[in-house]
Amino acid sequence: MTLDVKNQAPTSGVGYVQPNFFGYRKVDRWEARPLADSVLHLIWREHQISRAEIARQIGLSRSTVTEVIRDLLLTGYVKEVGAGISSGGRKPIVLEFQNDHKVILGVDIGATHVSASLMNLGGELLAFEKRSHSVRSDPEGTRSLVFQLCDTCLNTIEDGNQRLLSIGIALPSPVDPDHPEWISEVVIPAWQGKNELDILHSHYGVPVYVDNDANLGALAENRWGAGRGYEDLTYVKIGYGIGAGFVLNGEVYRGSTGIAGEMGHMPVGGGETLCECGLTDCLTTHVGGKAMFARISELAEKYPHSLLARGTSNLEEIELAAHANDELALQLYQEMADYLSTAISGWINMMNPGRIILGGAMKQLQNRLLAPVQEKIKACSIVGSVPNTDIQTSELGHKAESIGAATLALEGVFAEPGFYRNKGETLHVSSA
Ligand SMILES: [Zn+2]
Repeated sequence: MTLDVKNQAPTSGVGYVQPNFFGYRKVDRWEARPLADSVLHLIWREHQISRAEIARQIGLSRSTVTEVIRDLLLTGYVKEVGAGISSGGRKPIVLEFQNDHKVILGVDIGATHVSASLMNLGGELLAFEKRSHSVRSDPEGTRSLVFQLCDTCLNTIEDGNQRLLSIGIALPSPVDPDHPEWISEVVIPAWQGKNELDILHSHYGVPVYVDNDANLGALAENRWGAGRGYEDLTYVKIGYGIGAGFVLNGEVYRGSTGIAGEMGHMPVGGGETLCECGLTDCLTTHVGGKAMFARISELAEKYPHSLLARGTSNLEEIELAAHANDELALQLYQEMADYLSTAISGWINMMNPGRIILGGAMKQLQNRLLAPVQEKIKACSIVGSVPNTDIQTSELGHKAESIGAATLALEGVFAEPGFYRNKGETLHVSSA
């Protein structure tokens, strides 16, 4: 039986994107869902709550709540943890959501690395693994590394494989909701348009969800990091390339075909270099690792004594040079700040987000990039939009995308009706 919970659905965190296996579809957030789902969501959100409070918040009779809780106690997701405070009369029994009953894996596949986060159901990070890898040229080796990192994370806890509930994957490519097996041949040509990550589903036997890495960085920062409490935010990921993820009205915005957020291809002038997309003037020809490595070669003649004069293909070397006040590195950062600010100002003027979060590979963003970006944006944005938009660096750092992938998988599985049932078990729940 289902109950229309139009006015009682959880108001944060869970259920706003309803992924199907290996994809997602948008649903009306007030779509009717089984009654026990709504009760379990509420217990998850509150962590500890009494039966009377559940009845009050969802608008159910005490006897219905008692019946639902009796079934939910059998699933292992909820336990009774003693007596609470009484407002007169008998002390109520407190119910607690068991965050460690199950775990979720989030995998981030970047252009030059793979990382994995193991998270419990309360969003607590239990394990994190990261390795450098030539993802762009080695699809087979990348998939083996994904398995290796997932197993390493699962082995850090007791019964890891049995407790695994779902897996999320962040890809360095737009993700088409109708074709989640696809991966952009423009971004990583060696993969020939297929990610073949459904092998994770057959190996671990759990649902797998996939989305673009910048979207998932935005989701992670919104739920657990620098974007908590912001209904509208933009996450800008600066790595080998550049991408952006948007949270609008508390939900990740993906656009009509899943490719919203390609900030890297915003025109910002200076168009002498051909972008991989076929255009010139794109932001990504000026900002991000690929553009920086090329620009270093051009500037080397002007700065022969620079630490970078011999060229580099390592972002951390550029950061270290900037930290040592290397003139070439500082010029590079100044140029990058100029182009980045042009793109972000345009976005702020158009969308008026509450917060812009700069994330990605460069740890020194705070010192070297944030201040010039903030200054230039003030000069380029219309009066009224800037004072309300603050620009910060990521709180979750290089873990943001994998934590976002785990969050997608957590919210995805929570949106599946009856996900908490053990195999072969039927819950007998009646409507109010
Ligand atoms: Zn482009």
